[in-house]
Amino acid sequence: MKISSFCLPTFKEVPSDVKLKSHELMVRSGMIRMETSGIYTWLPLGLRVLNKINNIIIKEHQKLNINHILMPTIQSAEIWKKSDRYNSYGAEMLKIKDRHAKDLIYGPTNEEMMTVIGSNVIRSYKNFPISFFHIQSKFRDEIRPRFGVMRAREFIMKDAYSFDLTLEDLKKSYELFYNLYLNIFNKLGLKIIPVKALSGEIGGDLSHEFHVICESGESEIYLDGNSENIDTKKINYDFFEKNYFVSTTDYAEEKKMNTTNYTKLSSIELGHIFAFGDKYTKKLKFIINTPDGNINPLMGSYGIGISRIPAASIEINNDSKGIIWPKEISPFDLIIINLKPNDENCFKFSDELYSKLLSENFDVLYDDRDERVGVKFSDSDLIGIPFQIIIGSNYLSENTIQIKNRKNGKELEIEADNVIEKINSFIDDDK
Ligand code: ATP
Ligand code: MG
Repeated sequence: MKISSFCLPTFKEVPSDVKLKSHELMVRSGMIRMETSGIYTWLPLGLRVLNKINNIIIKEHQKLNINHILMPTIQSAEIWKKSDRYNSYGAEMLKIKDRHAKDLIYGPTNEEMMTVIGSNVIRSYKNFPISFFHIQSKFRDEIRPRFGVMRAREFIMKDAYSFDLTLEDLKKSYELFYNLYLNIFNKLGLKIIPVKALSGEIGGDLSHEFHVICESGESEIYLDGNSENIDTKKINYDFFEKNYFVSTTDYAEEKKMNTTNYTKLSSIELGHIFAFGDKYTKKLKFIINTPDGNINPLMGSYGIGISRIPAASIEINNDSKGIIWPKEISPFDLIIINLKPNDENCFKFSDELYSKLLSENFDVLYDDRDERVGVKFSDSDLIGIPFQIIIGSNYLSENTIQIKNRKNGKELEIEADNVIEKINSFIDDDK
């Protein structure tokens, strides 16, 4: 993408009443735009990040044969009345009336709808176990929408639902999602911690949240000193179930845990998984005939706050100049900065390099604008692309260009031949 055609509305000024660094940087880098309180447009730069996240999440779910679907955002109030959540969900639920005075809602979550769909599309006990996921906008009329997309009213969630016939199998599904989540967050470049949690509104017994530790986070967790020895990459969930190395503060309170040896830390919740059994299949009358009789299938639900992830990542990875993207979810792999766009030689070299990198399957942003050097550098640092390739006066005088690592500031002056090879090895050095 050439910046001359790219919609990149950057700002120098810090927007007023913005409290979080991530919120400031997302607005200043032109990733998002608030339309009305808690409701955002994702501009091209921001949407690229969301798409990177979605692609990783979709791929990892599909590897495990989880069915990809898309449910509507608007739901009938009827199914929520049947599950007894129409009133109990409270003021966060946006209720709507259509032209025939029928009650509808903008879905804050999809357990009810998924149960109804399951009862229609899962025809035989032989189809179990089976799981579904989708990526969709949710609406929760948060009392204080703030911090940008970190706590929005309309936000994007990946929610998944598992269906099993026995408790044993439900635990297996739960464990599958638990490990899938560790894997996904790892692939998103985030240091995630699974946290023993209360199951809240959704109900049930088994529940974990997935948090990143962050001083400005709104959540609080307890971390046991012993937890440092745990390899959280892939474990049996039973292990965490029995050893509350990390828990939400709510959980610790509810279970009257002795937290003397625990440290209280601020964090950001990025995911939440529950196993709630037959709570909804009973109320919504999803019954399956099996050789052992009629059964209400057992369900679990598994959410990731997709639109909160870019904010959380920025909250953790930034400096005084702007965002520092981890490679995994960066909107572009690298940026070419042509400091002399009006010089024929610099233009030709930059243009050719851009084409070559594209043909090597790099996601490239190309600053081909006729702008001041200062503006180019400050925009580039602000939007935080991991690698910068700088073409300027040294190309003309010495046939060299520069590669720079946004994160650690490491710079390398290279001869302007076999550049792709050199770029590849510079990127590899960062691993
Ligand atoms: P929180 O405690 O932060 O309000 P929650 O417990 O209400 O979150 P869940 O119902 O577990 O959220 O939803 C799954 C995920 O969706 C959360 O882990 C979080 O990452 C994300 N999420 C929830 N509410 C919002 C929101 N208002 N804005 C952005 N993301 C959200
Ligand atoms: Mg939660």
